Amino acid sequence: MPKQLDIYEKILNGETQAKYLLAKQYPVQFESMEGLKGLWEHHENKQTSPMSKASLLDLKIKISDEIFKSCDFCERRCKVDRRKEAGECGVQEARIASQFLHWGEEPILVPSFTIFFSGCNFHCIFCQNWSISQMNTGKWIEPEELAKAIDEKVEEGAKNVNWVGGEPTPNLPYILKVLKFAHSNLPQIWNSNMYCTEKAMRLLDGIIDVYLTDFKYGNDGCASRLSKVKDYWETITRNHLTANNQGELLIRHLVMPNHFYCCTKPILDWISENLPNSLVNLMFQYRPEYHAREYKEISQPVSMKDYTKARDYAEHLHVDLMRTIPSIN
Ligand code: SF4
Repeated sequence: MPKQLDIYEKILNGETQAKYLLAKQYPVQFESMEGLKGLWEHHENKQTSPMSKASLLDLKIKISDEIFKSCDFCERRCKVDRRKEAGECGVQEARIASQFLHWGEEPILVPSFTIFFSGCNFHCIFCQNWSISQMNTGKWIEPEELAKAIDEKVEEGAKNVNWVGGEPTPNLPYILKVLKFAHSNLPQIWNSNMYCTEKAMRLLDGIIDVYLTDFKYGNDGCASRLSKVKDYWETITRNHLTANNQGELLIRHLVMPNHFYCCTKPILDWISENLPNSLVNLMFQYRPEYHAREYKEISQPVSMKDYTKARDYAEHLHVDLMRTIPSIN
C-alpha cells in the first residue's frame, strides 16, 4: 500500500471512519431559512452544537441546494437555475449512466463501486467516454436507493465508492444526499477533472477521502483547444493543492501523442516541485476516439516512443509512479 494512501488503508481496516460518516455525526446549528452568507459562516466556523439534530452533512446539503439555484459548482460559472435548466455540462438533476463493481481501476482501488454520471463540464474532443459524457443518457435514481446499493456492494467486496462520469462536480448536491442515507465505512473517491470552484472544494472537505484526479494539460492553450475550457492551469493546480490538504491524492495523467513538451513535461515538473510525495499514474491507453481524428497530432494511438519519453522523464524527476501495466496500442 503506498504511503500516501495510509488513511485509505486505515478506513479499509476499520481503524478509522470514512470522512462522510464523521460529517454525519458532527452536530451543527443553522436555520433552514438562512441565506447563503449565513450558511457559509456556520460551515466555516464549524462550531459544534451538541443539542442540534442537524449535522455538518445536512449543512453541506443545504448550501449545495442553494448553489444549485444559481450554479457555480465549476469554473464555467453558468449561474443557471438547475431546477429549470441545464448549464454547459448538460446536467439538471443527476442522471446515472451506470453503476457496477469496477475491476479496471488502479490495483489498490479495486474492486471499486463506480458510479458513472452522465454529462460533463468538459467537452474533450478525444473523450474516451463520450457516449455518457456528451450525450443525454442515464436516469435518475432516488438517493436512498443508491445509498442502499452502496451498502449492499460492501457484501460483494467493494473497497470504496468511486464518483465519476462524465464528471461528478455538477452532481455534488445529489452525491451529498446519497451519503445522507449510506452507512458503510467505505472511502469516498472523487474521480474528477478538478475544474470545480473553491466553494465546491469547501463542500467536499470532510466528505471525500481520496481525490483521484485527471490532470490533463500543462497549459491553457491545449485545454481551450481540446476541452473547450478557460483558465485551466490556474484552476487545476489550485485544486490539486487544496485536495492535498483535504484528503489523499492519486494523480492520473493520460499521455497523449505529441503533447510531451506542452502537457506531460510541465505537469510532471509541477508535481515534482509542488506535490513531491504524490502518487502518480501515467496512463498510456490513449486512443483516438470521438472527434480526435480531426486533430492531426492526436489522431493516432500513443506510441512506445511517447511512453518511454514520459516514463523516463517522470523517473528522472523521481516522481512516485504507480506501477501499472501499460497498454500500448
Ligand atoms: S456544474 Fe454545470 S451548470 Fe454548474 S457551473 Fe459547471 S457547467 Fe455550469
